[in-house]
Amino acid sequence: MSEFNIPENIIPQAQKELEKLLKGNRNFVNGTPTADNMSLEHLKKYAYHQEPYAVVLSCSDSRVVPEIIFDCGIGELFVVRVAGITAGPNVIESIEYAVKKLKTPLLILLGHDDCGVMKFAKDHYPEITEDFQSIIKCVYPVLDKEEDVTCHNYFAQQHTKWVEKVLLERSKIIKTAVDNNELYIAKCHLDHDTGLVDLID
Ligand SMILES: [Zn+2]
Repeated sequence: MSEFNIPENIIPQAQKELEKLLKGNRNFVNGTPTADNMSLEHLKKYAYHQEPYAVVLSCSDSRVVPEIIFDCGIGELFVVRVAGITAGPNVIESIEYAVKKLKTPLLILLGHDDCGVMKFAKDHYPEITEDFQSIIKCVYPVLDKEEDVTCHNYFAQQHTKWVEKVLLERSKIIKTAVDNNELYIAKCHLDHDTGLVDLID
């Protein structure tokens, strides 16, 4: 195990990149960000191609900004943002694009504290509300398991694990990449109080 509890037996490239991102997160937390690739010059460098080394599925929440909390700039992350990291068809296909076409070896599922989707789902479960139906239908299966998810943040972590399961079940591209050791899925959680992103079990 590394200092960030990254398993040793994963794809070396994914391991290296995950470590870089978690170190970047510590730079953010310590107030010492180093990313200097946020200028127009960097955008021009990637004007006609991209080679991100990680896909990040994160919440649309305004507080969860992957490039900032991982100390990254232009061209590094392929970010899919959707409320509650809920994995509907377009979201799954967006991830598949990065995995299949851009050959990214690392997929980070990034849940977070105080998630509005988790709170909404808990307040309304098991009602299928008129609004936000496709979102709650992605979250309710976690509540169906009748686990004690009184804590919103714990619930978010359980949901992140559920999302991994959904991706592996519904995406042949993602499942095949994982089975062939071409993709590693890292389940992470952002703590709002500390700013730390850590792997969850
Ligand atoms: Zn959220």
